Formats: sequence, C-alpha cells, structure tokens
Amino acid sequence: MSWICEIARPDIVALKAYEHASWEPHLERLHANELPWRAVGDDSDAGLNRYPEPQPRELVAKLAALYGASREQVLVGRGSDEAIDVLCRCFCRAGQDAVIVCPPTFGMYAVAARIQGADVINVPLRVNEGFTLDEDEVLRQCTPNVKLVFLCSPNNPTGNDIPSEVILRIAERLEGRALVIVDEAYIEFSQAESLVKYVAKLPQLAVMRTLSKSHGLAGARCGTLIANPEVIALARKVIPPYAITQMTIEAVLKLLETSQIAVMHSRIATLGAERQRMFEALGKLPTVKRAWPSDSNFILVEFADPDSALQKSRAANLLIRDVRAQFGLPRTLRISIGTTDQNDRLLESLR
Ligand code: PMP
Repeated sequence: MSWICEIARPDIVALKAYEHASWEPHLERLHANELPWRAVGDDSDAGLNRYPEPQPRELVAKLAALYGASREQVLVGRGSDEAIDVLCRCFCRAGQDAVIVCPPTFGMYAVAARIQGADVINVPLRVNEGFTLDEDEVLRQCTPNVKLVFLCSPNNPTGNDIPSEVILRIAERLEGRALVIVDEAYIEFSQAESLVKYVAKLPQLAVMRTLSKSHGLAGARCGTLIANPEVIALARKVIPPYAITQMTIEAVLKLLETSQIAVMHSRIATLGAERQRMFEALGKLPTVKRAWPSDSNFILVEFADPDSALQKSRAANLLIRDVRAQFGLPRTLRISIGTTDQNDRLLESLR
C-alpha cells in the first residue's frame, strides 16, 4: 500500500465502490430501469431517458488533453466545488483530521472540511506584504493530522498568484504526509504556468481546474481534479456515479472544440486589457483607497465608504461583491471584470 492510501481514510480505502449498470453502448439497455422512450422534446444526442456514462471516457480524454494530463490522473466533477468536497471526504476522518487553508481565500475549502467534520487550520496570507503566502507557517502547522493543504493560485479574493517555486517547495516537504491541492480556477487569466505538469512526479500534488471561469461555462458545472492515479481511484469511489449530466457531457464536448478555445484566448486577452484599464481607473477614483493588482478576472478594492459604493453600483443595476464579513477584510469589495460597457457604467456609478 502506498503512502497515499496510508494517509487516506481507511474506510474509504476499504470501501467497495458502488457497482453501476455496466456501460456497453453497443447493446440495448434493459439493465438500468430506464424508460425506453425519450421525453417529449428531448433532442439530446444520447437521450435523457438514459443514465449518462459515469466518468465519461470521451470527456475525461478531452479534459486530460486540454490540461496536459493523463486520463488516469483525471476526475471530472460538478465544478471544482465537487473536487474539494470529494478530497475532504476521501482524506479527512471526522473529528480527527484537519485541512490547512490560507485566508482570505475561497470559502469552500473550509466549508467542505467542516461538513466532513474535519478541523480547519488557518494560516493567513500576509496582508501587509501583498497577500503573500507564509510558507514557513504552513509547514509549521502541518502536523500529522493535517491531510490536505489548499492553496489557491491565483487566489480568490485577493487576485494574486502564489509563485510556483513556493508551492513546489511546500509540496516537496510534505511528501508522504499530506496532499497539496492547488486550485487553479483562475490560472488562464494569469501569466503563471499551471502546475499540472508536476503532478506525475509529485504524488502529493493535486491541481484543480474548472471550465467555470475563462471558458465561460459556469452553468455547465464541470471541474477537473488532476492528481496521482491513486488519489483519483479513491475519489472515483466517493463521487456519485452519475455526477455529470448527459446535457453537460454533450454541451462541453461541443464547446471544447478548437474554434471555441481560440475564442476563449481572445476573450482572455480582452479581459486582461479591461482589467488593466479598471485597475488604473479605480485607483484614480477619489472614493477608492487602494486596488490590489490582479492575475485573475476580478480586482479587490478598498473603498473609503464601501456601503456607499455598494449602494451606488446597485443603483446602476450592477452587483459587486461585499467580501468584508466573509473574508475579514475591512472596507474591501471584489469587482469582477465585465464587458467594457459594464465596466464603464460601474466606474461612472462609483465616481
Ligand atoms: N475555486 C475558486 C478559487 C473559486 O473562486 C471558485 C468559484 N468562485 C471555485 C473554485 C469553484 O468553481 P466551480 O464553478 O468550478 O465549482
């Protein structure tokens, strides 16, 4: 048994996975208690009367190719949210194990850990040093019961990357002890390179990617966990067999064609230009105390009077995110980059 199975929950290692109806599309299906007729108006390719293929091979292969991973390294789930949940459930024994998170950061790591009954250890980012990661403190806090270390790069809500050498140094120190999960939800908006290519060498490293951000497919709910095949094998036991709906499978396969990827790249360029424009313009507004540089598709902004900023943007029909309570950042709001017109209207409203 490898060290991955030794740090995983023993009951999950021992668990016999649910045996779903076999997937043999060349045969007619009288084995899954489905209705033999399509619903009226069902124009899907495969028919929504049929259960979808669990961990659909074509989609897994497509996502593996997109991210530069092998199929055995890939789990497809309902967004990265599901990968976070599945990892907590695979590795954390309720009441015994813990995860490390580095706030202010994406809230689902702590929520998923708590739902699983795991402890959450906070190692705050260094607010006064541009929200940089406290590498030494992460390692100091990594006691034997810590099973997962969640690092978000670029980080939500601060927008900055964690340098890859920092993440790799942490991962090297944690070999045999814990998994380092790098959430790259916003990586396409950054100049930083994905760490997927290190997953084959470092079994303790896992990367989460999503179609929700740069690909514009948040509504499809499709995220990918890229990890050592042993981690993926455990995760496949825990994720529901039919997590990905037939509608998502068909839509995503169509929407990941080369022409769509080209459009994505041009939109990322447009968004990057708008982000720079917004960063400069926000910085000049008298109501703004500071804006943090961003490698993502949003900007964290400190306002002199955030309540007034929220009110004014709402009056212009634009929602921006109040992150004060959730992230413990006084006077800060998070602004997603929109279209040029939306960005202009937001700037105008905040004057
Ligand atoms: N990670 C980060 C850092 C996020 O900000 C979000 C969504 N806001 C997610 C993951 C979840 O994304 P998905 O839609 O893939 O579940």
